[in-house]
Amino acid sequence: MKEKIVLLNPPAPTLNMRDMYSSTVSKGLYCWPQVDLLVLSGILSKEFDISIIDANALRLTNDQTMEIIKKAAPYALIFMAGSSSKCNDLGFAYKVKNSFRDMLIIGEGGFLRNNPVQEMQDNVFLDAVLLNFTSDDILGFLKNDTSELNNLAVRKNDVVICGKTKYSTGYFSYPVPRHEQLDFSKYRLSHGRRIPLTSVISSYGCVGKCAFCVSSNIPYIMRDVDNITDELRYVEKLGIREVFFRDVSFGSVKKHALALCQNIIENKIKLGWVCDMRADSIDEERMVSMKRAGCHAIHIGVESANQMILDRYSKNMKIETIEQAFRLAHKHGIKTIGYFIIGIPGESEEDIINTIDFAIKLRCDYASFNFAIPIVGTELRKECLENDWLNSDDGSFDGSFSPVIETGSIPYQRLRELRDIAFRRFYLRPEYIFDRITKLKTVFEAKMLVLEFLNMSKTAVLNIFKRNR
Ligand code: SF4
Repeated sequence: MKEKIVLLNPPAPTLNMRDMYSSTVSKGLYCWPQVDLLVLSGILSKEFDISIIDANALRLTNDQTMEIIKKAAPYALIFMAGSSSKCNDLGFAYKVKNSFRDMLIIGEGGFLRNNPVQEMQDNVFLDAVLLNFTSDDILGFLKNDTSELNNLAVRKNDVVICGKTKYSTGYFSYPVPRHEQLDFSKYRLSHGRRIPLTSVISSYGCVGKCAFCVSSNIPYIMRDVDNITDELRYVEKLGIREVFFRDVSFGSVKKHALALCQNIIENKIKLGWVCDMRADSIDEERMVSMKRAGCHAIHIGVESANQMILDRYSKNMKIETIEQAFRLAHKHGIKTIGYFIIGIPGESEEDIINTIDFAIKLRCDYASFNFAIPIVGTELRKECLENDWLNSDDGSFDGSFSPVIETGSIPYQRLRELRDIAFRRFYLRPEYIFDRITKLKTVFEAKMLVLEFLNMSKTAVLNIFKRNR
């Protein structure tokens, strides 16, 4: 009989997205299956009996989750952790170890990956930390073979040993993940077109070197196209209708993107899908092919309207390239979700206003305005620490809520006001609202529009209440 492994997205008071080394708190409307756990479920199912517990999406309490773990009695537990819920995630894993002393406890997530030795020294209950969730090196460790220690940091005789992070040199692949274990009623994207939704990856890492992003440290590797297609066929058979490609930069190698789209079309896979792309990967050929293969929305990291800021933080992107990318996506009927940073060092108030204007000019279908966050392992964090610009240095923050970088040029309170202005100016335009209504294609989209409106109204009232306290 195979030994059991539990893959856990820990319970938390907030709905947290922790996959792909990210860490954000959902503002209520979106929640997707955590792709790291899905990939691991495929890799580990070769040798182990896998159980995925998405306690966070299921809104389980600590006690309920503990009860499920107790019943499963696994040999090892791999848990996700994110910087915005760091204390919560480590705290829960600690409780598990305290209750089940023989269980191997393995952590996975951005801040653990970027500082594994220190984190394992600080958290002595951790038996190992995963450094690359696409690698099957974890199998050796779980079978008590620690002769080769790649892609893992482990504790051996009370000493933490950190192996090398190694990446696949060719296309990577793994057995089909265990999507069927998820409760699909819990997942949706605010700009999704349909449900049920699941997450898949076609690549890992990024071609970009942006100084504020943790993926800039991970080389871009691609997954075998037939292997991706097998997974898409499988999820379609399960009744899934929408896929979120969780790659941080989908389609950066044109040949790979076109081959995947061709496979989807030839196999008559009828899934709708959404992905994240760099603006300089968006061209006519990819848009035509992606649209035909089911893509209906793309997330694009714009960051700033100021070329000097893009250059300073190594975005390696021209403003004209960004404009061209949005034009092309719209031309092919693909929705755009623009991501913008507010309060990155070097920005003036005028720059932020220009960025808000730019979001409107680009005609994004959605815009996400987030405060700059000094993520562990990034150049931006180093710069902030060197200049003493942080109001907190424990790494537990989330750019969706409060600014944490203060350079002296714009006070926190003003940054918050500027973000409120960004939301109001972008979303409360009559032409924007009209555009959204006329573009509705499914009942699900209409429902999400109403929910979004209610959610935004609630946030606006809460903000007024907070300011007047
Ligand atoms: S392009 Fe996007 S994912 Fe890649 S390093 Fe830059 S911000 Fe990160």
